[in-house]
Amino acid sequence: MTSVTLKNVCKSYGDVKISKNVDLDIKEGEFVVFVGPSGCGKSTLLRCIAGLEDITSGDLYIGERMNDIEPSKRGVGMVFQSYALYPHLNLYDNMSFGMKLAKADKDETKKRVEHAADILQLTHLLDRQPKALSGGQRQRVAIGRTLVSQPQVFLLDEPLSNLDAALRVQMRSEITKLQRQLGCTMIYVTHDQVEAMTMADKIVVLDGGYVSQVGKPLDLYHYPHNRFVAGFIGSPKMNFISVHALEATAEYVKVELENKVAFNIPVDGTTVNVGDRMSLGIRPEHLLMSDSSEATIEGEVTIVEKLGQETQVYLSVESADTDINFRQPDTLQVEPGDKYAIGIDPKRCHLFHDDGRACRRLHQEVGADIPEA
Ligand code: ADP
Ligand code: MG
Repeated sequence: MTSVTLKNVCKSYGDVKISKNVDLDIKEGEFVVFVGPSGCGKSTLLRCIAGLEDITSGDLYIGERMNDIEPSKRGVGMVFQSYALYPHLNLYDNMSFGMKLAKADKDETKKRVEHAADILQLTHLLDRQPKALSGGQRQRVAIGRTLVSQPQVFLLDEPLSNLDAALRVQMRSEITKLQRQLGCTMIYVTHDQVEAMTMADKIVVLDGGYVSQVGKPLDLYHYPHNRFVAGFIGSPKMNFISVHALEATAEYVKVELENKVAFNIPVDGTTVNVGDRMSLGIRPEHLLMSDSSEATIEGEVTIVEKLGQETQVYLSVESADTDINFRQPDTLQVEPGDKYAIGIDPKRCHLFHDDGRACRRLHQEVGADIPEA
């Protein structure tokens, strides 16, 4: 168990900068998830930590400074997205392969493989070959193989992306349990924000090689620092509506929708100028039936998705970037083509500058159910 620290780490391939000025503090025993869209540099950063890539500048510590320490001496174990097992070897031999190669003591090897198999519930399968296993079992062997090397830090790069949806959900909780049981430092990479939200102690959102925000899952959900994080965390995605600022104080910003409806949003408006064009963000789960709010916005229903427990409705509205998505009880009778009005609860709104920066939300105004940032 050890901590991982990155100080102003940059990684370039030739002239192309991939990881940019990354500062990170990962505590001993913490479960950290790197999340971001495909191509944002998650794997690159993980491979730098593992030592499979040299960093271009900055400092990397795994306990001690690691800049020039070779991968095998870093105390890290990595599980890859495509985890090829040896098809002709049984599970025991697959899991002990690394130790055999390192000419480790046979008794010690046996002890470690049996321990890993026990933790991963693979004991009864140790004689089997990979082809006689389910996808989930094979994934567990890949993890077991890394476990046997007793890493200080576990690195996992999209380990579940080859599994079907149901198995992914199951493995998600198995990995979370495993991490708690081992108490190890774990860095887990995924493009799936649901995986990040459900598994992480701490999420690192990456955007184009930069760290966009670091925080606990619910802090990112309630207090995104920018529009990118607001739009990336949460499913379905946050809605964005164009507004402009009529008044701005340290306690609120008065915004006006395109339909001239105006209301106060409880955010710190000290960085806002009157007349600024801004983006109001509101999550689908926070839009209301129109009769319960003074701030309403009207549009035409484009899509109705009846999911059983609720109905998802998409509304075409002039000032919104894309159709506004909201949720309603399954009893709602609404059809594509209908005119419909939804209510906006100002306390549930986020407000973003043109460049994407968020105005700080004032939690005491936001509501008792929203945790303090
Ligand atoms: P992610 O894991 O977030 O999908 P990657 O870290 O794999 O993203 O890649 C980030 C960017 O770096 C991509 O644009 C990719 O094309 C580029 N890249 C990755 N590896 C190399 C390499 N060895 N040489 C040049 N470019 C690379
Ligand atoms: Mg990747």
